[in-house]
Amino acid sequence: MTDQATDDTAKRRDVVLAIDVGAVEFSAGLVTARGELIDRSFADIEHDVGPQSHFAALASAVLAQREQAKQHEVRIRAIGVGCPGEIDRNAVAVSPAHISAWRSFPLAQHLHELTDLPVYGDLDAKALALAEGWLGAARGARSFATLVVSSSISGGLMIDGELLEGRSGNAGHIGHLIVEPGGRRCRCGARGCLEAEASGTAIEAITGRRLDEPSWDIMRRTGGLVGRAAGMTCSALDLDLVVVGGTVPESFAATFFNAAQEEIDAVARVGHGAAARITPTKLGDRGPLIGAGALGWRGLRRALKARQRSGADQTPPSGEAPTVDAAE
Ligand SMILES: [Zn+2]
Repeated sequence: MTDQATDDTAKRRDVVLAIDVGAVEFSAGLVTARGELIDRSFADIEHDVGPQSHFAALASAVLAQREQAKQHEVRIRAIGVGCPGEIDRNAVAVSPAHISAWRSFPLAQHLHELTDLPVYGDLDAKALALAEGWLGAARGARSFATLVVSSSISGGLMIDGELLEGRSGNAGHIGHLIVEPGGRRCRCGARGCLEAEASGTAIEAITGRRLDEPSWDIMRRTGGLVGRAAGMTCSALDLDLVVVGGTVPESFAATFFNAAQEEIDAVARVGHGAAARITPTKLGDRGPLIGAGALGWRGLRRALKARQRSGADQTPPSGEAPTVDAAE
């Protein structure tokens, strides 16, 4: 066996244990350096339980994947976490809107204590931006936005190949653009935010119906509002591509996307190139975990660079990292 072959074998055997804090369930999976999701486990997010009970549910999925890693004969190098906002950098503290028991919950520390692995986390929509830019609907695009429209709404902004961070790491909260002035009160305190009008939580409150029993009118309205916010984002940032995932577009499908595209066409008029386009995620329900895996690989790469800068470690990186956001 050649050195190259040995090296390739070693690459295949390294994985990131990816975690997604989803709308209705926690998921955990194993993601290779090439972005393959080779296994996954789920745990329901219960209502009305305390912070430690939520973590116990998540831990069950994480530990199941650690067992699966043995079956697959892979080595877990790090944990990557995608979580709805707000979060502190690297998921040191998380306050996802739909898990009220988690307010500044020290997620990274809990995961580290559970697994003894380095933990790299970020907003779910930023994770999705990494995944869709790496292997999905935005593959090859250097500038685009992603939106996750679920029980809350978050966004990720990839600009010139760099995932925007902002002052607190929460850049991309497109869910708090005002789409209905004077509209419903948002949890942020403002009225008429996209999240207060078009999130799954908002739709159920407005209609009194479950997400999977929508009327045509609510699918059109929701798509239009998402398109409005997406169009404003495209105008502000000179973008021509918005990739949308989450439980709402998955449920509302083409009716949602057609209405969203019509609204973008109506409001995003300043583009100098191709007209802005809104499109579903390509990676589907694998995207959040592949994105969380990308966060883990990115974190490992950054840690390695930091060590190399300090001269402490000259070991080359194991595995390929996401091609997008490779500039740092
Ligand atoms: Zn708001």
